[in-house]
Amino acid sequence: MTFDELRLIEPLLRAVRSEGYDQPTPIQEQAIPHLLDGRDLMGCAQTGTGKTAAFALPILQHLVITPRGPNPVGSGRRPIRVLVLTPTRELATQIGDSFATYGKLIPEHKVQGVPLRAIRHTVIFGGVGQSPQAQALKTGVDVVVATPGRLLDLAGQKLLDFSRLEVFVLDEADRMLDMGFLHDVRRVIALLPSKRQTLMFSATMPKDIADLAGAILRDPVRVAVAPPAATVDAVDQSVYHVAHGDKRALLHHLLGDPSITRALIFTRTKHGANKMVESLGKAHIGAQAIHGNKSQSARERALADFKRGATRILVATDIAARGIDIDGITHVINFELPNIPETYVHRIGRTARAGASGHAMSLCEPEEREFLSDIERLIRREIPVVPDHPFRSTAPAAAPRPAPQQQQRNNRGGGERRATTPQARRRRYGRNGAR
Ligand code: AMP
Repeated sequence: MTFDELRLIEPLLRAVRSEGYDQPTPIQEQAIPHLLDGRDLMGCAQTGTGKTAAFALPILQHLVITPRGPNPVGSGRRPIRVLVLTPTRELATQIGDSFATYGKLIPEHKVQGVPLRAIRHTVIFGGVGQSPQAQALKTGVDVVVATPGRLLDLAGQKLLDFSRLEVFVLDEADRMLDMGFLHDVRRVIALLPSKRQTLMFSATMPKDIADLAGAILRDPVRVAVAPPAATVDAVDQSVYHVAHGDKRALLHHLLGDPSITRALIFTRTKHGANKMVESLGKAHIGAQAIHGNKSQSARERALADFKRGATRILVATDIAARGIDIDGITHVINFELPNIPETYVHRIGRTARAGASGHAMSLCEPEEREFLSDIERLIRREIPVVPDHPFRSTAPAAAPRPAPQQQQRNNRGGGERRATTPQARRRRYGRNGAR
């Protein structure tokens, strides 16, 4: 299928072409026609599948072809017609950028000699001063992209009027749940008109999310795309068995490879990320860290430096890296293996984006062999072991888990968190492995 067959208007088609997209991704192909028809949507898809364009393009088209006048009472400014809720600042910024990118040619397009009105959006998130965000809202925007906490703050100050809202997008719903935002999400939904189009995206479907979908979607179209297999296929994976105390030395050794031009290294903790940047610095290997304890501006700077190639190595925790959309990451390095196997798939999906090839290297100490087995079971393949490297550990793996637990583990439903040994793991590593 081509974008032309998706019934998109000319300025959107041209914008998509100028981004170099040849054809729609599966989620775009499956979702866009229904969204243009005004249907609700339940999309099982994670970042990296092209889901942002899957909702931003039909939303922009709707905004253009059904213009609305300003609010008749009060300020007379344009009403908020679309709200996108997303869990992290980085995702909010990226979604805002996508609306700008895909909508950039709208004002250049004329209908009967009259140029179309530009679509305005604003991005709202915590951790920064609120006045610029409040100011943007006062001037009037069509689309608000927001994280839940700050949105509720501004709503509490009567700075947001959703009475004319038409489309609501709940992005990364499972991540909202993981981050403890579900209550806030419900409070936001309570502010919206009940007559609206609702789109919900979630990579996994734990019960709370399925319940929420049942409550807020009306006769939704269901679209599921399965990135794990695709991601896993596209990435050249390898594992290095190494003793805990040799991991740093092995990492420094590996980073000596000049073909690693842009690497994302995952650590389990914020503290671990900071320590790694320090130790790399001592070895004259430039790196920056990105995690939740850094200020917004420090995170943005680190990301921007990494994007333009000024920093070769970005060290991140899982939560901070969630949804980072940077092309050209040649290597993902798991300095520690995640205790939740799905996280491995999310991590390695940061490389090999949009058809490029990529490498994922995992450093596995004897204590982590169990995590490695879980991952291999999930992706249904063995990750090739690099047999000869200077720090090879031949220590035996930890004892295998008893069979009954194994049974329970295999029984867990699509994407639900494991039913076995979670308490022990969480005590050690925290819920998502990112303390
Ligand atoms: P997302 O899942 O929305 O984070 O998108 C992941 C990446 O895919 C982004 O870098 C997009 O720019 C890119 N992308 C989105 N749609 C397409 C497409 N149809 N063809 C190629 N790349 C795309």
